[in-house]
Amino acid sequence: MTLAASLTGAGVERLALSRFTTLGVGGEAEVWTVGDHAQLSEAMSAPYRILGGGSNLVISDAGLSERVIRLGGAFASTDLTAGPESNPERFVSGWVGGGVPLPGLLRKLRTLGFSGLEGTVGVPAQVGGAVWMNAGTRFGEMFDGLYQLEIATPEGVRQLSPSELPWGYRDSAIPRNHIVTRVRLALKRSTPQAVSAKMEEADSARKGQPKMKTPGCAFKNPGGVSAGRLIDEAGLKGCQIGQAMISPQHANFIVNLGGASAEEVHALLTLIRQRVGVKLELEYELWP
Ligand SMILES: Cc1cc2nc3c(=O)[nH]c(=O)nc-3n(C[C@H](O)[C@H](O)[C@H](O)COP(=O)(O)OP(=O)(O)OC[C@H]3O[C@@H](n4cnc5c(N)ncnc54)[C@H](O)[C@@H]3O)c2cc1C
Repeated sequence: MTLAASLTGAGVERLALSRFTTLGVGGEAEVWTVGDHAQLSEAMSAPYRILGGGSNLVISDAGLSERVIRLGGAFASTDLTAGPESNPERFVSGWVGGGVPLPGLLRKLRTLGFSGLEGTVGVPAQVGGAVWMNAGTRFGEMFDGLYQLEIATPEGVRQLSPSELPWGYRDSAIPRNHIVTRVRLALKRSTPQAVSAKMEEADSARKGQPKMKTPGCAFKNPGGVSAGRLIDEAGLKGCQIGQAMISPQHANFIVNLGGASAEEVHALLTLIRQRVGVKLELEYELWP
């Protein structure tokens, strides 16, 4: 359903958010799809949330009262021409939109033989969401390949270098609801074969993960102990509530068998916390 047109031409529709999350769960909200800074600024003029690839979210069945902003247009385009800062060893890109899907970007970098982001292979995020939380694996993370960031804040748009931000393990210190609109990448010039080999190595660590609708790992590993092992030892592998199930393949993944609700996922999270005798911290976000 299309709502009243925005002043700046942003797309505004009331939509089910389930279509934008990797779990396939989420009620309705007013979705603002913005393609330039004027549209983004208008979208940010009322309470909002910024949605990326929806790969770290469990969104309530009742939907959201805030606007949900999605990055499109210029914020979803990729400029991989070499910037003036490039040299024979290093490639510095043009602007890559925060709304660009990370898996597709990595495929392009592999074809071009640009190395630095291979450790993020298999993360089903958008570039902006992956930067916001410095997504990655033990093989590498988003900030390994960043040259410059553009961030929209309620006070205006800032361009900064990664060295101006404290960032660390799965964290970037970019405040919540400051929006990563675009980034420029700084990568090593390598070969498609070498980049491909690094990606395969990083990807092989995912062999045990279920290929189903899921928001990824449910809990952080408490004190270095595997959360999946604790849940498995509590006898919860394969446990099902409605259409939500603790994966029989990897106990730290809750999967949607088809038509699961956020309520069913919450019930499984509660059950896990009750049964595992260690305090578990959630990995993904619950909206709201
Ligand atoms: C199968 C699977 C495997 C995964 N493996 C990994 C892994 O190996 N390593 C890892 O780190 N994560 C992993 N994840 C989790 C997830 O992919 C990451 O947390 C990712 O960074 C989320 O990005 P997103 O674009 O999907 O953000 P969303 O899920 O849409 O949002 C998550 C948070 O990011 C914010 N956000 C989104 N876009 C922007 C933006 N442009 N600017 C500012 N904030 C923004 C949102 O507001 C929200 O707070 C996995 C998830 C799945 C489903």
